[in-house]
Amino acid sequence: MVGNWEWKFLKILSNVNLAEYTSWMIGGDADHFCLPTSMDELRAAFQEAKNNNWPITVFSGGSNVLIADRGIRGLTICLRRLSAIESKIENNQLVIECLAGTAKSELLKLFLKNQLAPALFLAGLPGDVGGGVVMNAGVAENFSPREFMDFVTWIDVMDFDGQTRRISKEKLQISYRHCDGWQPGVIVRAQISWPLVQDKDVILKVREANKIRLTKQPLDMPSCGSVFRNPDNAKAAQLIDQCGLKGFCIGDAQVSLKHANFIVNLKKATATDVWNVISHVKRTVLQQKSVELQTEVVRLGQWT
Ligand SMILES: Cc1cc2nc3c(=O)[nH]c(=O)nc-3n(C[C@H](O)[C@H](O)[C@H](O)COP(=O)(O)OP(=O)(O)OC[C@H]3O[C@@H](n4cnc5c(N)ncnc54)[C@H](O)[C@@H]3O)c2cc1C
Repeated sequence: MVGNWEWKFLKILSNVNLAEYTSWMIGGDADHFCLPTSMDELRAAFQEAKNNNWPITVFSGGSNVLIADRGIRGLTICLRRLSAIESKIENNQLVIECLAGTAKSELLKLFLKNQLAPALFLAGLPGDVGGGVVMNAGVAENFSPREFMDFVTWIDVMDFDGQTRRISKEKLQISYRHCDGWQPGVIVRAQISWPLVQDKDVILKVREANKIRLTKQPLDMPSCGSVFRNPDNAKAAQLIDQCGLKGFCIGDAQVSLKHANFIVNLKKATATDVWNVISHVKRTVLQQKSVELQTEVVRLGQWT
């Protein structure tokens, strides 16, 4: 079969602990696990799952997922090695095409090199391009772009039969921290473009923004960033702080003392500890503030 040589090296491992693949450093084992490096390897993984009747779970940078202590049944595909990036100048725009597992920091490097505003937006965003699309990752500051889908022009999605289709941004349903209309399948590629309007001070602005972020966020501890979405006309962090929940702890999962919307792993927190803290915060904010917080973080695996 054409392309056989490309994916014959795909390794599917069994009973792989996923904690080290997440920014929270938390999670049980995947029954089966692989890290495809090419489209053909991804197709091969889908085929293998089909042959064995395994359900498929996908993640990439692991910076917005809470993986169950009991792990994930079937095949877990981590996309972070499906990574490649190219850029060109076209119609006075910087046009970037990249595979979905490309780290956002690779985009950051290109925007910095070209002295363009998206560098400022990307500086504080961990994870990979596919995760950025799915979560429509965004920043609180009034930057432009402010959300990931502001600079995406199209995405390619591979369905579970290995067929790829291109979807333009206009066909997607884009909302706060969410992007729909691409399922079923896995996002495998994206095109990003931005006008070539140089800002010679962008590197200085990035340094300043990073400094501020370090003072406000517990970036020295494992977390997944903000756990809750901001409700309309309010800030989740403020509500949680006003309820006196900073420092609230179950096991080794703690509402950060620095930023109330972060839950940090002090050392050996389990997914259950984190989920119990999340549930307590939700209950307390509902009782005291009459606001129903929604989680931004995505739960994966076997929770019941
Ligand atoms: C310290 C810290 C700070 C953060 N700050 C911010 C912030 O300012 N703003 C913000 O929005 N987020 C922030 N986050 C959260 C997170 O970094 C973003 O949501 C990021 O875009 C997730 O990307 P990821 O590759 O890690 O996705 P993952 O965590 O791997 O996955 C997230 C979801 O996307 C799905 N997914 C991932 N890739 C694909 C794909 N290729 N195809 C289909 N589905 C896919 C997964 O199944 C899962 O449902 C922060 C996280 C940390 C740890």
